Amino acid sequence: MAETLDELYEEVKKCNKCELCSSRTNLVFGVGSENADLMFVGEAPGYHEDQQGEPFVGAAGQLLDKLLSSIGLSRRQVYIANVLKCRPPENRDPLPEEVEACRPHLVEQIRIIKPLVIAALGRHASQLLLGKSVSMTKVHGQCFEGNGYSIFPIYHPAAALYARTTLTSLEEDFQKLSDFLKVGLEPPVQQPEQAQQMGLF
Ligand code: URA
Repeated sequence: MAETLDELYEEVKKCNKCELCSSRTNLVFGVGSENADLMFVGEAPGYHEDQQGEPFVGAAGQLLDKLLSSIGLSRRQVYIANVLKCRPPENRDPLPEEVEACRPHLVEQIRIIKPLVIAALGRHASQLLLGKSVSMTKVHGQCFEGNGYSIFPIYHPAAALYARTTLTSLEEDFQKLSDFLKVGLEPPVQQPEQAQQMGLF
């Protein structure tokens, strides 16, 4: 079992559990600090991420950097990963079998980093981390407890690029994230019995 992100990266580089490994340019493993308190999980690499091998380097990534800077953080101080480590063709939605094949890699990243809070960016990451399908309108900006981790669903930055109200919600949720990191949030809204139904781990 990998002890560090570098060791895990070497393992994940060899992964061929789904078709996406044959169409990708680069594996997009993740970026940031192995000791991060705050981890972000997005959906999947897009064109620019696939070209550069780094998550969130396109337009959505630039917004993510701005939101991080609004709470005094840089991408080097947090950890950023995706549900899928390889780009789906034409940026289509991840298929359930791709999510399932890639899930152990994310679980291992979380095990090694042990973040205080995991911000799930958008529906795909929130669904995986909460173990059930969710409406982002209902769950964003609330903290859910699961397997010892605090899961904090927020809108995907790509959804906020052209929607002013979504951007405003995202900006507010980043302030809540910042408060959480400074002083802790009120108790998670989900009860322990429900948390145990989570499918990620
Ligand atoms: N969108 C994502 O979900 N992840 C990326 O890395 C880039 C865009």
